[in-house]
Amino acid sequence: MIVIVLHDTCTSAQRQQVLSAVQFAGSGLRVHTPHLVSLAGDRDRVVAVLDGMPQVREVTSLPAGYPRAARLAGRAATTPVWVSDVEIGGPGFTVIAGPCSVENRHQMLTTAREVRASGAHAIRAGAFKPRTSPYAFQGLGEAGLGLLAEARERTGLPLVTEVVDVRDVERVAQTVDMVQIGARNMQNYALLQEAGRLRMPVLLKRGLAATVDEWLLAAEYVLDGGNEQVVLCERGIRTFESGYRFTLDLAAVLVLKERTHLPVIVDPSHAAGTRGRVLPLALAAAAVGADGIIVETHHDPAAALCDAAQALPTSDLPELMRRLVPAAQSAGRGLRRAPGERTLTSVSGG
Ligand code: PEP
Ligand code: MN
Repeated sequence: MIVIVLHDTCTSAQRQQVLSAVQFAGSGLRVHTPHLVSLAGDRDRVVAVLDGMPQVREVTSLPAGYPRAARLAGRAATTPVWVSDVEIGGPGFTVIAGPCSVENRHQMLTTAREVRASGAHAIRAGAFKPRTSPYAFQGLGEAGLGLLAEARERTGLPLVTEVVDVRDVERVAQTVDMVQIGARNMQNYALLQEAGRLRMPVLLKRGLAATVDEWLLAAEYVLDGGNEQVVLCERGIRTFESGYRFTLDLAAVLVLKERTHLPVIVDPSHAAGTRGRVLPLALAAAAVGADGIIVETHHDPAAALCDAAQALPTSDLPELMRRLVPAAQSAGRGLRRAPGERTLTSVSGG
């Protein structure tokens, strides 16, 4: 796909001039925003017909059709997404932590309190769970949303939860601050379109067998709906390796940073499969340049109803937060300030 980026100062008459010039230079001409036009065809031909037009800032060829998700020259490398008052993709590394699923009031509130005490920035927990087995715990559903709301009330931290069904999108969106689309639903196009109608952050996890470009095309569905607040989450892919749950593809973080302006976070938990591997993978994610992590934690992991083996005890969170500081700094950033603190935390204490 060829993308034409117009200067911010471009008038509608100048844009019309561009559209007229390229209409026979390719096919599928589309105006995405007043400054972003795409078409299929040959880049050299498009460049030739636009020759000398000062309103054209850039003509780029994309590996796949995601003009809105693409990182374009002259634009910010990353467009931050704000989850309530927590920024993802800004100068600070962001930590989202919480149990795999909401299980009961005591578990949710205890774990949430510990997450907050550790200095993590947002809470995750699933009320609706996409389980591989139909006989596994499916989540508390609506009741879980109520407990999540209570956890936010008590901690002041924003909430991230998964939606698995288009029928629940509105209800979930009313309760939480960021809607997660899970790996198994990355190519559920009806759900992506519904998420595109929202005007709130969406966390889009990578499908178990999705390429980076397929993942960016999935993000494009949400963006094309007019919802520009998309964060990508690498959570491990299925490979021939059976020594651990999924293969955490940290190189994908680098490739995404080349191809997209959307913030990228990493979920070390689902790839690790066991808790001992979570902290090192989280540090690796920070060191490779991810914008944050989303990590599973539980106040009593042995009792967890879902993903127990990979749940980090909440008592390990302070160490994780401490060790993320130099890891994030090695990639040139501080750890985002803890809620209530005023500055970024860095090794030097600045
Ligand atoms: C989860 O975050 O609990 C989850 C189900 O993740 P994924 O969709 O990556 O498997
Ligand atoms: Mn889980």
